[in-house]
This record gives sequence, C-alpha cells and structure tokens, in this order.
Amino acid sequence: MRKLFYNGVIVTGEKGKIIKNGFIVVENGMIQTVESGDPRLSFHDIAERVNLNGHWVLPGLVNTHGHIGSTLLRGYGDDLPLDVWLKTKMWPMEGKFTEETIHAAASLAILEMQKSGTTTFLEMYHLHLETIAALVQQSGIRAVITRGMIGLCSYNEQEQKLTEAIHLSKSLKRFGDGRISTMLAPHAPYTCPPAFLEMIVLEAKKNNLPIHIHLSETAKEVNEHVEKYGKRPAIHLAELGVFDVHTLIAHGVHLDDEEFEVLANNRVAVSHNPISNLKLGSGIAKIPKMLSKNILVGLGTDSAASNNNLDMFQEMRMAALIHKGNLENATVVSAEEVLVMATKNGAKALALENIGVIQEGKEADFIVVDSQQPHLQPNDHVTSHIVYSASGADVLDVYVKGNCLVRNKQCLSLDEEKIIYEANRAFQNLLK
Ligand SMILES: [Zn+2]
Repeated sequence: MRKLFYNGVIVTGEKGKIIKNGFIVVENGMIQTVESGDPRLSFHDIAERVNLNGHWVLPGLVNTHGHIGSTLLRGYGDDLPLDVWLKTKMWPMEGKFTEETIHAAASLAILEMQKSGTTTFLEMYHLHLETIAALVQQSGIRAVITRGMIGLCSYNEQEQKLTEAIHLSKSLKRFGDGRISTMLAPHAPYTCPPAFLEMIVLEAKKNNLPIHIHLSETAKEVNEHVEKYGKRPAIHLAELGVFDVHTLIAHGVHLDDEEFEVLANNRVAVSHNPISNLKLGSGIAKIPKMLSKNILVGLGTDSAASNNNLDMFQEMRMAALIHKGNLENATVVSAEEVLVMATKNGAKALALENIGVIQEGKEADFIVVDSQQPHLQPNDHVTSHIVYSASGADVLDVYVKGNCLVRNKQCLSLDEEKIIYEANRAFQNLLK
C-alpha cells in the first residue's frame, strides 16, 4: 500500500536540512522516497495522494519522559517542592487510583500528545500498564512503556516488582503492532537501594533491555546520597553496572564535571525536562555542557502534574530559551539543536533507531504544521518558528507508521468528547 504526500516543506530532522516543495512516498508504513519536485506524474500509479498545501512537515515529536498515569493530577498540588509534593499530594492520591482512573488519565494524555504532535512517548508507571498498552494500540501512537520500580520495600516485594517488569517487557508486545517497546525502570537512586539496582542490571543484561531512571533531579537528593554512600549518584550508578546497558536518565539537573565524564564515556542519554524542573523548583540542567561533551539529550515533559501540559513545542521553546538566560549567552542551545533533541536524538535516547527523521528507510512518523498562522510569518525561517513561535495547537495532521491519527486537528482514532467527560468524572471520583 503506497501513499504520496506532496507540495510540502519538509523539515527532515537532520540538522538544518529542509526540502522546499518536497514530497514523501510511504509504502507499508515506511518512508520510501523523500525528494523535492512535483511527483504527480512520475508517481502516477499511486492512487492515495495527500496535498500538503505548502505546510511544514516534520518528524513526529518524541517525548522521552513522563507519567501519563497521573495526568488527572494536573493542577492538583501546584507550587510545592518535589519531596513535599510527592509525599503529601501525588503518592496519597495515587493510592486511590483504580483501573478506571488510569484508563481516563492515559486516554486524556494520549489524546493531548497526539493532537499536539507527539508520535512517541516514554511512560514510567507502576499501575495498569496493560490498560495503557491497550490505549496505545487503539490510538495508533508509539510508546516505550516502563514499569517504574521503587525498592523501599522487602526483598520479596522487590523481586515481585522486577518479575512483573520482565513479564510486562514480553506481554506488552502483543499490543500495538510493533509500536510498543520497554525498558527496565528503577525509579531513582534514592528510592532503589544498591542491591536492588544490581538485581535490575542483571536482568537488563539477561533480557537485553535498556534502563530508564530518574537521576539527580534535586540538590537535596544528591546531598543525601553523598551523605549515605560517600559518592555522587551518577558515579554510584556506574559502579553498580547500571551504565553497562543503554541507559536513559531523566533530569540530571545536579551533576558535576566528573559525572558528566562518566555519562559521556558510557554513552548515557539524558531526558531534559526543563519545564517540570522549573515548576518543582529543582533547578536548571547544564545542557550546554552536556552538548559540549556529546552527551545525547532528548526532551521530556514529565507528568501533567508537574508541567502542566504535554505540549512538546512548549518544551522545545523552553529548552532553547532557558540556558540562554541562565548563562547570559544567546548563542547556547540553538533552535536546530533543540529540534534534533525533540526528534532524532529523542528517538535514539529511547533506543528507537527506526524513527526520528524523515529519511528513506525510516518508519513514517511525521506531523504537519499549519504554515499559514500569523505567528509563523514571514514563513522563511521554518526551524526558528517551530521552536520559538509555534505551539501544539498549530499541528494539523499526525501520522504514525504512515497511518493518519489526526486530520485537520481532529483525532481519528480516539473519541475526544468521551475522553474529556470521563477524565472529569474519574477526577471527581478521586475527590470523594
Ligand atoms: Zn518523572
């Protein structure tokens, strides 16, 4: 089955490469051709044709860190520091979550992500992951679903959680037609004792699974770690063998030079979540320094409870602005670098080499942005406008594996009205 997309401005996702008057041929969900020109004669045999009307096509955005299970806690418990927020707001509410809550929360998040141009997301959660996987299947989006594990419990419970995570790494694959992958996800060094982390590393190696972990989000957790173990968390994780497998850390706000060296030498990827880090008052990750050391950086929103939306355009804009202000240097973290973080490098961070750029041989995950909006004129500086001026509301169409999930801002695979109704109903049930 072939589809022809023509008359578009194609932002390939390769640094700086833009094809004007471009076209894309997709066959069986894969990109077969990306070129410039009018293909309507040379590809006259393709019946299914989409006129892109001069709009901008870019790789689907990749959200490398989040917890969609807690989306209903958006706006619940703002303006609190991370530890107080987790202990007094998030965890007590999560204790009341049922399958209905997770279904409503995940549906809402997937709807929001899909409509704002995210085609792949990473989920770290611990409840009803099969429900989330079934929603991924239904929606058509792509996901890395990880079972978050907190190890502050007995050895038996640790073992149970790990066994469940390994089981899910296999069972979730029956959903989503190859669009779901997994990682092992110890929650953080401050919630997972060293012996538990070693158990996880052993299983990651045995099952060929990458690792995803929160690392050094706040100064407080780092100080406590140093007090307890006499070494900084990233050094400790390296010693425990965590970085022997492909590892994606979330945040990395409080890392020192020695830790940057360790991350660089072990090719550890970083999920940069600037908005969540700001909202929780955690600090600003030293992204310019990471980039100078060739550390792979992707972008993430974290959960809607600490952001408070899942719009990757806003994350891009923040990532491009905050380091300039912080370092009083307008030359750091360019728009092009940020766009690559949100696409190609995000995909690499998730160990998904088949997506992230619009290129022959890759899977056809791309989005169409409305180039006719007033705030995107004059329409010459496409990459600049995408990063500094666009928002998720400018996304017209969304394709994953060549399948249309959103057309002209309408979600085709999910019932928007029902999802919004059920999200509100489920939240009211939580308050009871
Ligand atoms: Zn997180």
